[in-house]
Amino acid sequence: MTQEEVFKKLVAHCKEYGFIFPSSEIYDGLAAVYDYGQLGVELKNNIKKYWWDSMVKLNSNIVGIDAAIFMHPKVWEASGHVGAFNDPLIDNKDSKKRYRADVLIEEWCEKQNEKINKEVAKAAKRFGESFDETMFRQTNPRVIDIQNKISAVQQRMVTALEENNLAEVKQIILDCEIVCPISGSRNWTDVRQFNLMFDTKIGSVAEGANTIYLRPETAQGIFVNFLNVQKSGRMKIPFGIAQMGKAFRNEIVARQFIFRMREFEQMEMQFFVQPGQEIQWFNHWKNFRMKWHRALGLGDDKYRYHDHEKLAHYANAATDVEFQFPFGFKEVEGIHSRTDYDLSRHQQFSGRKIQYFDPESGESFVPYVVETSIGVDRMFLQIMSAAYAEEQLEGGEQRVVLRIPAALAPIKVAVMPLVKKDGLPEVARDIVNKLKFDYMCQYDEKDSIGKRYRRQDAIGTPLCVTVDHQTLEDGMVTVRHRDSMQQQRIKIEELQQIVETEVSMKKLFEKLMD
Ligand code: ATP
Repeated sequence: MTQEEVFKKLVAHCKEYGFIFPSSEIYDGLAAVYDYGQLGVELKNNIKKYWWDSMVKLNSNIVGIDAAIFMHPKVWEASGHVGAFNDPLIDNKDSKKRYRADVLIEEWCEKQNEKINKEVAKAAKRFGESFDETMFRQTNPRVIDIQNKISAVQQRMVTALEENNLAEVKQIILDCEIVCPISGSRNWTDVRQFNLMFDTKIGSVAEGANTIYLRPETAQGIFVNFLNVQKSGRMKIPFGIAQMGKAFRNEIVARQFIFRMREFEQMEMQFFVQPGQEIQWFNHWKNFRMKWHRALGLGDDKYRYHDHEKLAHYANAATDVEFQFPFGFKEVEGIHSRTDYDLSRHQQFSGRKIQYFDPESGESFVPYVVETSIGVDRMFLQIMSAAYAEEQLEGGEQRVVLRIPAALAPIKVAVMPLVKKDGLPEVARDIVNKLKFDYMCQYDEKDSIGKRYRRQDAIGTPLCVTVDHQTLEDGMVTVRHRDSMQQQRIKIEELQQIVETEVSMKKLFEKLMD
């Protein structure tokens, strides 16, 4: 099965089992907007809890807030979003499809990279054990040639974007002979800028109406509340403010399911530090955030950093955590050292002093900021794409299983009476009634046990508990584990402990504190 086919299956699976539905589906949907279903919302909430607790609960110097989506329009002037939150877009005249010009160029670079990787793989095969990859990459003429081409194109693109030279951006696309993936043609329009913010009107009468924006990121709600939180919480630098919430971007190219949406959710943390200490903190958060991802056990080789060589003018370090989705390595999280840009801009635009008074040195200064910014939905997709598996079982049977990290699974335990009679349903319901105070449980009595196991595998339930006739005599039940499919016989009184050991988030948190 190709990765594309796997991805299609995953999208279908998400719908079939109540994880994600297209928005307003009965009206044929709304592009790049999705609704989370009954199981999706549970997984999403668990992801948010994992993030929130690991930031706010585990770090005594981080507090949370929940700012409004609507903000004063000046916020977006200060942040630079009104003037510069633009994507360069280009249309193919034959397919009528619209693309982000920079993404077309980046994809071209990625293809060149793949060529290099193929050369490396070929050479590795030829030379066997004595193969020195670093040496090969540094000396092979073909590899060097491709690498130089990539660097030159990247450099041209960065300069063109920085100078807002859209004609040059188009020229790069022409020079690289990039074709439209749909029509295969190079019949491109000019490149145009397109602001990604949605606007709306506040106030009930049109004449008195004021244009406001739906926030394109949650970070600004933190910056404008810096002083409120610092003062009311008597926070001492270094400290952080965390927030989760909806953000909106009128994305030109909305593809790849929930990877790029027009309405999505972010989890952001801004960490305020003394100027000069930001790189040390940047490295700290870079490591901590990678640990957070890896603790889930989806596979260490599925992550990589993408350090930004070309930085935004206000940043002095930036990296992305990338995850290997079925459609390649893509950003899930950004970690940025943003200097004092944001607070200084708000100071300038609001006319208020936004500074921290350091009681030890007796000086006031505008703190520097290190931010970590992750999309909930991309995190969701990361987990689902790593979790989805089709397995061949003994006896020719097949199962689809979602190997969702147990602590994040929507349903933790399914309890099933072997048959719908003889008092077994009563015992099973009793077990659910005890466990439901702590865990999301499902009671299921329909179909054969095999079929019920398959249903729970398909939604990622880590544990199934079966009540049978023997249970009535010895008070023992069968616990079946999702991943190993192994079964064990235990006392009903031991259930709570077994579930706790299997699904507790604490184990994840402990890994972060190592
Ligand atoms: P991209 O380059 O993919 O557009 P970005 O660099 O603009 O992303 P940031 O502004 O740094 O993204 O946002 C931080 C995080 O928010 C991203 O790492 C991603 O997880 C999430 N995010 C951003 N835009 C979207 C979107 N349209 N849909 C879903 N998640 C998003």
